[in-house]
Amino acid sequence: MTEKIMTDIFEKKHPLLITNVTVGGKCVDIFINETGTIAGMGEKERTKCKGEAEFIIDGDGAIALPGLVNTHTHAAMTLLRGYADDMILQDWLSQKIWPLEAHLTGDDVYNGTCLACLEMIRSGTTAFNDMYFFMADAARAVDESGMRAVLSYGFIDLFSAEKRENECKATENLVAHVRALNNPRIKAAVGPHAIYTVSPEGLKWCAEFAQDQKTGIHIHLSETEGEVNDCIARYGKRPSGLLDECAILTPRTIAAHCCWLDEPECTLLKKRGVHVSHNPSSNMKLATNRAMPYPHLFAAGVNVCLGTDGCASNNNLDLFEEVKAAALLQKFYWNNPTVLPAHDALLLATENGGTALGFGTGKLSVGTPADIVLVSTHTACNTPLHNADSNLVYSCNGGAVETTICDGKVLMLEREIPGESAIREQAARAAYELVNRTRNS
Ligand SMILES: [Zn+2]
Repeated sequence: MTEKIMTDIFEKKHPLLITNVTVGGKCVDIFINETGTIAGMGEKERTKCKGEAEFIIDGDGAIALPGLVNTHTHAAMTLLRGYADDMILQDWLSQKIWPLEAHLTGDDVYNGTCLACLEMIRSGTTAFNDMYFFMADAARAVDESGMRAVLSYGFIDLFSAEKRENECKATENLVAHVRALNNPRIKAAVGPHAIYTVSPEGLKWCAEFAQDQKTGIHIHLSETEGEVNDCIARYGKRPSGLLDECAILTPRTIAAHCCWLDEPECTLLKKRGVHVSHNPSSNMKLATNRAMPYPHLFAAGVNVCLGTDGCASNNNLDLFEEVKAAALLQKFYWNNPTVLPAHDALLLATENGGTALGFGTGKLSVGTPADIVLVSTHTACNTPLHNADSNLVYSCNGGAVETTICDGKVLMLEREIPGESAIREQAARAAYELVNRTRNS
């Protein structure tokens, strides 16, 4: 492919024909129209659509999947990758993460989020659910990257009425800012951090504001046993009960972690229509001592999806690795190799994530937005190919993704992403300067 074509294909959305890819075990072509929608998918598509396509991508036998959906992350924490590992959760936060975050700037968040988007595009993710600070700068990065994101400001009032006022203002500002961008790929959500960092008054305000503005809610729930015990001691009820009393549990809510839910809480989350984001790598790295109760959530019919959490506790954003971690952790913890089989594990990162974020993605079918990734079959990890789901979950990682398309726009083609080295260099410089500022303060 010539240099000229490579540049042009990245510039904007074009009507595209992808030939010779496998979807659900069948070899098909996929036609994407100029609005970024899958307009045709089938064996005869190339004869029907060839005239309309401005570009033809030869899939060369690749497996086509819906763009993966990361339903819990703190994208700009890529700058903290490898800065502090192997520590007790509270020490890790208070001695390492929080002092560094106190020196964060909007430019840092922009550079960190650009790096996160680059890493996600490289590993086949096209949409993510983000909670952090300086989110207008995160929005700028997402806009430029071509990805989709739901952005929430991390609301932390630490039980102070004065701080609460600032957090309400910051939340209102972000929702207004995102609305003014008028970019269908970016949505705002309300992000009450957790029950141990936000007062019941703060939680109630978040619930009302989200209801009023028709936005999602993004929260951490029952990550540690300590959180549950403190909640019972303080409020006389478990965390889900407290959140329900504050009206946080809704069909627009994504609750991350959920390691320490009991069975009645799983039933309550189903009743309220809450989506649960499983974060197995982060939970294992920080030793939460219990796996999210997938069998109970599955039995209750809760929509379970998948997230990487931030790069300080993972330490990458590769959802293929996360799918494998989820399948293995669930089997190991419940001492049962039949729990979370490959096909279902893959659904967590595709269809279920798409349902949670509400962009209409997560499935490949005619009429859906063209968020598509092509996974090469000409790789060691896909040889032999007895069972595609098995290889995708247990033997591949994001390195097997060749091409990433979001909303019909090509973001990576044959592993090439325009501007990649500049993004890496800027993020590395921002991370280095952030650490220096923190040390010298
Ligand atoms: Zn988190």
